[in-house]
Amino acid sequence: MGLRLSWALSAGVVALASCLPAEVLAQPQAPASSPAAAPRTGDVQPLADGIWLLPGRFERGRQPDGNSVLLQGREGLVLIDSGRHAEHTGALIEWARARGQPIRVVLNTHWHLDHLGGNAMLREAVPGLRSLASAAVRDAVAERMPRSAADLRRMLADPATDAQTRRMVEIDLALLERRAALAPDELVGAAPHEIAPAGRRLQVGVERGVSGGDLWVLDRASGILVIGDFVTLPVPFFDTACAELWRDALARLGELPFTRVVPGHGPVMDGEVFRRYVRAFGRLVDCAASEEPAAACAARWAEDLGPLLPEPSRRGATAMLSHYFDAVLRAPPAQRRQYCPA
Ligand SMILES: [Zn+2]
Repeated sequence: MGLRLSWALSAGVVALASCLPAEVLAQPQAPASSPAAAPRTGDVQPLADGIWLLPGRFERGRQPDGNSVLLQGREGLVLIDSGRHAEHTGALIEWARARGQPIRVVLNTHWHLDHLGGNAMLREAVPGLRSLASAAVRDAVAERMPRSAADLRRMLADPATDAQTRRMVEIDLALLERRAALAPDELVGAAPHEIAPAGRRLQVGVERGVSGGDLWVLDRASGILVIGDFVTLPVPFFDTACAELWRDALARLGELPFTRVVPGHGPVMDGEVFRRYVRAFGRLVDCAASEEPAAACAARWAEDLGPLLPEPSRRGATAMLSHYFDAVLRAPPAQRRQYCPA
């Protein structure tokens, strides 16, 4: 797998995000919540008055879906992040239908397919849908996705690509081929400001660190901060990251007046748990910059997170960190700078 992994990396496939190698995805990530893989409308759970969460899944042998949040506005629903798999996006569409509420606007935190890919299906199901995202999403759709699609076609043509990887590649390639539907209708500027999609007042801004342009959304009425992949479990998804910018962004995000944080992946956190994550993140980046063995850094990450990383997720976390140390955090400087400004 080593050779194929480096091939995939050099081809930039990992930048599809989070296109983790099959050997890593084969590790248990989190206990499956039920034997049936497809999310159902019943999985949508209330978070606060007029706010709901569809938790993203990250299960063995599959790429992840990000968490999705629905907010009730005066004129309909606002959706934050649309997932990757048809099952996830379909559950959001069905839930809105059952509620008799149209999804008017989708905000995408970033261009990774586990947060944006579902826009293609949404646009077909929801006429008149408007999508808002950062300029980095527009640029990724125009410039990065055509290259990624070519890389994935090469992987499919390679007889050495195993069946599990092939299935994951086919799902992402189908989304990339519909990339025109993934481009944002409106861009969100970086400086914090207020918007009112579907009549719901939200504070938004764009930071960098995870993907080159990462949107955060604060609902002042509830204190809920939707933070995209600035917080992910079981580990930070470093595929397209600049770790130093990410750490700086987390410090600024920590200053926002929130009471709870909805991460891109993993459970909703209160302020104290968020601060624990931020501290663990900083120590992980420091450890990566030191001479310490990757395994020691991974052990400290698990220790720093404590109950945030339950035992069944630890093996998967260690495998993922070992991959990210090689591919990103301790990659040759030229490769590391790919996502960091000069
Ligand atoms: Zn994600």
